Amino acid sequence: RDSVGPSAMTQEGRSPTSEIRQDGRVEVSVVLPMFNEEEVVLSVYRRLKAVAEQLGASYELLFVDDGSSDGTAGTLLEISLNDESVTGVFLSGHFGKEAALRAGLKYAAGRAIVTMDGDMQDPPELIPEMVRAWRGGVDVVRMRRQSHTPDRHLDFMLYSARAAALLSLVVNRRRYMKHIIEWAGLRETVISYKRRPRFAGRSKWSVAQLLGYSRDGTTTLCSLCARILMLTGLLGFSAGLAYACCILIAPTVGNDSASLLPQASATPLLFGGGVMYLLGWLGERMEQIAPPMRHTNFSIRMFARNGQDRPE
Ligand code: UDP
Ligand code: MG
Repeated sequence: RDSVGPSAMTQEGRSPTSEIRQDGRVEVSVVLPMFNEEEVVLSVYRRLKAVAEQLGASYELLFVDDGSSDGTAGTLLEISLNDESVTGVFLSGHFGKEAALRAGLKYAAGRAIVTMDGDMQDPPELIPEMVRAWRGGVDVVRMRRQSHTPDRHLDFMLYSARAAALLSLVVNRRRYMKHIIEWAGLRETVISYKRRPRFAGRSKWSVAQLLGYSRDGTTTLCSLCARILMLTGLLGFSAGLAYACCILIAPTVGNDSASLLPQASATPLLFGGGVMYLLGWLGERMEQIAPPMRHTNFSIRMFARNGQDRPE
């Protein structure tokens, strides 16, 4: 692995286009989530930097380390300390890609914000085209993979600052984004592109993550529990109801077998089932309405572009 030499990078980092404009805002932010990407970090940075320099706009590269356990964070820190245009956001733990993106969007200062995978499967060479679309007055540029017809991939995107601000209010970005964009009257455009194979390293999706059991913002663990509660509750309640009917109807049809059953046992089934169902229902509602803790509560260490905040 190449080492990051401060001398080599300082020059690169001081190019005029990377300078922040007078109003304190850069024009374009590029946000990349990074989890255990030590093999690619440096080459990704270089390739992205080369593209950014050609943008003819001030820019910042915002790498979000998603609690990597390899050398990713170290390399990112070094890069961010040596290149003014690079900001490192370091999550306190591994929270998943969606949370990493949310953190990145929160800190991105650009008038336009591009989000993309950090393994160069989304070719950065397309960023200028996205920026052109944004300059033409579009709020959201969605890059659609040529091989996929459904629009469910929301990784490679450009947001205007107002679109990003609006979407930051949305708890489940993935679930609601399309509706919010329409509802808010934002202008959107779709550009098709060919997704490349991974540049190096391995895909970071673990079996647990694929099943939705991660700390990722897209987890369904809570709502899964809620649904189990609702289902169990419903079964209990139905059984209690059927039982109660038996007890009530039995004497009228002259069948006294029901009276042998302990009559009070219908009550706990009815109440227990009902309460379980309601708890599950509430859990499901809360998951949708209140921002789940994992979305907001992770602590973030952030280092300034010029390295003044170097940590101990
Ligand atoms: N990633 C992340 N946290 C995760 C999983 C992935 O930050 O828990 C990052 C990863 O480093 C990469 C991007 O998200 O930059 C896409 O991940 P990956 O290539 O593993 O996904 P795939 O391309 O296989 O869908
Ligand atoms: Mg990938």
